[in-house]
Amino acid sequence: MHGPADLHTHSSVSDGTETPTQLMRAAGAAGLGTIALTDHDSTAGWAEAAVESRRQGITLLPGMELSTRYEWRSVHLLAYLIDPLNGDLLQETAKIRESRLRRAEGIVARIGGDYPLSWADVLAQTREGATVGRPHIADALVALGIVADRGEAFDGILHPRTGYYAPHYAPDPLTAVKLVRAAGGVPVIAHPVPSGRDRMLPEPYFRELADAGLFGLEIEHRENTEEGKVVVRRIASELGLVATGSSDYHGTGKPNRLGENTTDIDVVRRIVAEATGSAPVLPD
Ligand code: AMP
Ligand code: ZN
Ligand code: FE
Ligand code: FE
Repeated sequence: MHGPADLHTHSSVSDGTETPTQLMRAAGAAGLGTIALTDHDSTAGWAEAAVESRRQGITLLPGMELSTRYEWRSVHLLAYLIDPLNGDLLQETAKIRESRLRRAEGIVARIGGDYPLSWADVLAQTREGATVGRPHIADALVALGIVADRGEAFDGILHPRTGYYAPHYAPDPLTAVKLVRAAGGVPVIAHPVPSGRDRMLPEPYFRELADAGLFGLEIEHRENTEEGKVVVRRIASELGLVATGSSDYHGTGKPNRLGENTTDIDVVRRIVAEATGSAPVLPD
């Protein structure tokens, strides 16, 4: 195992714009030594990624970014090296993906009242079986020439305040941490301090998560505020949580570039040592 290590990336199995194969090639070209594939609520890209990560001479940590919710806050939990066949986790991710689909249909129906957008337009932007999210609706709006890019869609039509928005089902973070540990995985809270009032979880709740088995906090991430990072660095050191850093690469779907933030290789080794659900895919 060697660095640089980027532990948060998305492929077209969720809302990234590159297939797992293309993503592993991009990782090779970016000079990464280790990469985690963390598609939203799905492990469907693992097998394809493993073939190409080996070819590229990169270590692959198979993972997932599990959708959770705390009150009104959407909280993302990175789950490394889980058992992809764990029954409880499979049941929960299927429930989330199903709810995401129903919710996306509802959002599209409401947008369709004001703009010439149909569900078929969204499906045309979505790989078969992919975890459907607002980014796919954004891509359809771009294809129709209604907005210029995903960013404009998220700032406008897809923003919760516009009235088209609806949330999808998600378990609470504490339940999710327990679920990931029970599946042999290692849980890390993704981008814990995004901008926006009160988006951070209440501080006492971090202690509950730590007690339940939370491993770390993704502190180096472009969507964390600088003030927020100071707060979560202190929380991490008080609770014995490990700091990670990553890009959250989505191909051309976001400005985030592979390797723009990285995780210490010693931290990667600890993740691998703690995991019992699956093993990293080592290069040939
Ligand atoms: P959803 O889970 O369907 O509510 O959509 C949230 C997803 O959209 C997250 O995975 C983000 O990475 C992505 N996202 C959020 N804001 C933006 C943005 N401004 N531009 C592109 N993607 C975004
Ligand atoms: Zn995403
Ligand atoms: Fe996320
Ligand atoms: Fe992500």
